[in-house]
Amino acid sequence: MSYDAVVIGGGSGGSAFAKRAAGYGAKVALVEQGPQWQPNKRRSGAGPGGTCMNVGCVPKKLMFMAAAHREMMIGEAATAKGYGFTVPEGAGKIDWKGLKERRDKYVAKLNTNYTAGWKKEGVEVIEGFASFTDAQTVSVQCNDGTTRVLKGQHILVACGGLPSEPDIPGVEHAINSDGFFELEEQPKKVAVVGAGYIAVEMAGILHALGSETHLFFRGDTVLRRGFDPFIVQTLMEAMEHHGPVLHRTSTPARISKQDDGRLTYVATEGPMGEEAILKDFDCILLAIGRKPVSDRLGLQNTGVELNKSGHIVVDAFENTNVPGIYAIGDVTSTGYELTPVAIAAGRRLADRLFLKEGRARIAYELIATVVFSHPPIGCIGLTEPQAKAEFGEENIKVKQSRFASMLYAFNDDDKKVKTALKLVLKLPEERIVGLHCIGPSSDEMMQGFAVAVRMGATRADFEASVAIHPTIAEEFVTFG
Ligand code: FAD
Ligand code: NDP
Repeated sequence: MSYDAVVIGGGSGGSAFAKRAAGYGAKVALVEQGPQWQPNKRRSGAGPGGTCMNVGCVPKKLMFMAAAHREMMIGEAATAKGYGFTVPEGAGKIDWKGLKERRDKYVAKLNTNYTAGWKKEGVEVIEGFASFTDAQTVSVQCNDGTTRVLKGQHILVACGGLPSEPDIPGVEHAINSDGFFELEEQPKKVAVVGAGYIAVEMAGILHALGSETHLFFRGDTVLRRGFDPFIVQTLMEAMEHHGPVLHRTSTPARISKQDDGRLTYVATEGPMGEEAILKDFDCILLAIGRKPVSDRLGLQNTGVELNKSGHIVVDAFENTNVPGIYAIGDVTSTGYELTPVAIAAGRRLADRLFLKEGRARIAYELIATVVFSHPPIGCIGLTEPQAKAEFGEENIKVKQSRFASMLYAFNDDDKKVKTALKLVLKLPEERIVGLHCIGPSSDEMMQGFAVAVRMGATRADFEASVAIHPTIAEEFVTFG
């Protein structure tokens, strides 16, 4: 069967492209393999909505919000008592099973909405595993056992990524972020290994929900790449006071199962590479990055170029080197693994191919991002070191402040969680080239600031917009 567009992958990017293209009248087939589970809670397919909907942003955010409820009640940074609430002995015990059931139901409902959305737009949905036989042809091993051959004038690869794992003995005893969402019981003692978004977010959630949580990372800090040092330092302080047990300069060495079924984690630590042996974990969660799903797509039959890490090389318009084949989202070399990036790339590509908006493309410059850490981080643009490297130290001015927000007014002085805000300004016009924050509500405040920064706002523009008081965000427009 021939189509105007064949889409491989019904995640954030593929779905967005397919709906928009079909909305413009294109004949679109979307192939999604659905959730495929391998042993030990490893996954090779996600299902309608992809990673974000099934094993990413959505269930993660629900767990983050569960954690936020408990954080106010229990623990060193809890605020409820200070505001006069009685927090009885034993409060904060979570019905993990019940929460998981409700979360799974919520996701299942969204899966149904996704599928309904595709059908409503006229996208033909094919459930199965797709691979290329040549540059114009995709063969699908359908989940019902049949095989289909699809010809596409345009073929979009939007098949995302999967968690990477370290090559260490005993790795099969550990889980990854997919396995986190399969946990039927709350682990009493858990090791989280990694230093990026997922390790920070999941260690924070588990700790805030009351698991004894140990976070192991290779450097002196987490979030070593792409985050401003001022913000990272503030996060490290918050984690030291109120977060998981931190294990710095720690490299995974091996994992073994104890006689009682629990796990031992061995890492090499410090400059001398000494072995640290930690026992009695119910669960070890590896979160050391993700790899693209490009190896089983038959791309060798097309000549599509991959980079060293297996990502599909695309230009600024999502074109691969083979005419008629495009790629978006986590599978690409763009370096962004974020849902809104995949969605925007998919929509712009559909605009370009089917609305004939020849120059339509996602602008990869100035993409805002949030880490749902404790407290959350929001940022857009250049860090201070990046800005100084790009424009020269003499052309950059920084405005920053760190304070305890009013939320913690009644906490002991040494237990207050700090908020930190930073503007990176390019001289002489003081254009905002970087905006960074950590503290309560940083996640929610970023979107509006992202619009302003994208529009080229200067510090004078910020000052001209009168503050909203009392808020944390007002600090950005009132820097002295
Ligand atoms: P995916 O969403 O991964 O979709 C790819 C789809 O393709 C899958 O459904 C898969 O089954 C299917 N597929 C693969 N191969 C084939 C094949 N050969 N045939 C048929 N189907 C196939 N991003 C954010 O912006 N905010 C967050 O808070 C956030 N939290 C996250 C938390 C976690 C734990 C994880 C893992 C990721 C998170 N992300 C977050 C990242 C976000 O989920 C991804 O960037 C996004 O899902 C990428 O979309 P995609 O369309 O490229 O791929
Ligand atoms: P990241 O790429 O964010 O971080 C992985 C980190 O793990 C590396 O930076 C590295 O840090 C460390 N690492 C790498 N290899 C090893 C190893 N062998 N042993 C120990 N540590 C190692 O990956 P994540 O898996 O956390 O997340 C993947 C992507 O998903 C993110 O980049 C993000 O784009 C997206 N995501 C977005 C979220 C959001 O928007 N809120 C939430 C979750 C995921 P170091 O070098 O310091 O050791």
